[in-house]
Amino acid sequence: MERYLKFLNGIRSIYGEGEILLHRPIFKGNEYKYLKNCLDSNYVSSAGTMITEFEKVMETRIGVQYAVATSSGTSALHVALLSSGVKPGNEVLTQSLTFVATGNSILQAGATPVFIDVSADTMGMCPKALRKWLSANAKVKNDVCINIHTNMKISACMPMHTFGNPVDMLSIREVCREYHLILVEDSAEALGSSIGSENCGSFGDVAAFSFNGNKIITTGGGGMLLTNDADIAKFARHVSTTAKIPHAFNFYHDMLGYNYRMPNLNAALGLAQMENLDYFLKRKEEISKKYLNLCNSFGFKFFAAPKGTQTNNWLNAMIVETKDERDEILNLGALNGLQLRPAWEPLHTLPHFRHFQTDRLDMTRYFTDRIVNLPSSVPE
Ligand SMILES: *Cc1c(COP(=O)(O)O)cnc(C)c1O
Repeated sequence: MERYLKFLNGIRSIYGEGEILLHRPIFKGNEYKYLKNCLDSNYVSSAGTMITEFEKVMETRIGVQYAVATSSGTSALHVALLSSGVKPGNEVLTQSLTFVATGNSILQAGATPVFIDVSADTMGMCPKALRKWLSANAKVKNDVCINIHTNMKISACMPMHTFGNPVDMLSIREVCREYHLILVEDSAEALGSSIGSENCGSFGDVAAFSFNGNKIITTGGGGMLLTNDADIAKFARHVSTTAKIPHAFNFYHDMLGYNYRMPNLNAALGLAQMENLDYFLKRKEEISKKYLNLCNSFGFKFFAAPKGTQTNNWLNAMIVETKDERDEILNLGALNGLQLRPAWEPLHTLPHFRHFQTDRLDMTRYFTDRIVNLPSSVPE
């Protein structure tokens, strides 16, 4: 108890007095200016130059050809699945240790998830577990991957970069090629993370980012789909509006559209936030170094990004010994005005996901009981 309290004081020595939030946004750049420009222009809704500019900035930053801005990260994931050819009744391989939106988007597309374990090194989908599950449960016939128990097509694989720590995308991409699976990258937490010289968000056939209020940059609410595939981009643009066939005045819609486009107002915020991304990344790296030292001096295990990768340090995490220890630290944090957080309830335990296939999920269970996320905002 004494040790835990001293540790919490160590967090105070990083962030200072008062309530310390897990991750709050900061608006110290051109946010007000761009929002005002946006209001002055009258283009506040789903058309406007800010949207196009924000998409361009993201294409350049991530190094992909096409970006489509959406109303949320969840809608970006949903559209990513729809536009890459995931059909109702298909199965999609993903991880259980993730935010609920990852799994929800699979259900939204009418597909069903299969939960694969995460790796001890990355906290994201484990390529070995993925291969093992596929070799025991799937076969490829005429370039289509079939689940030998359900007879359903397995169409896609959707790993997630947990807390910004890059998943082993190179190994996962190899498995996906072998099994003819579309690779959908849930990069919601990983803007600014990279593996070697490649950015997270550029590995999948299609990727999604989130700009929710707690992410590394925010548009209030929003997301973005990124891809190098012109057909995916075109389809994504079509379904994320109202699927209207362009015409001077006629209203003809050739399929179900979802009205998922990002409003210009939100894109204005996104443009201003992107100008500060490198500053955020630098300050967050400093915070993570302080946490590494703090954890080391108290004998806690700080979770470090895997070798050869660069994390954006979105959410710092330590891995404690037991669930009881975790709960004691979380309680003390709450009593002392520090917003510490456990991992998400793993998806395979939630009511709407409970009946789907999983592998053993040993590491998922291990991490779920022991993760403590530490306050990780960019300091004032
Ligand atoms: C934040 C997040 C999303 C999408 O979130 P929205 O709130 O819809 O923008 C998706 N997946 C993961 C892993 C996330 O953390």
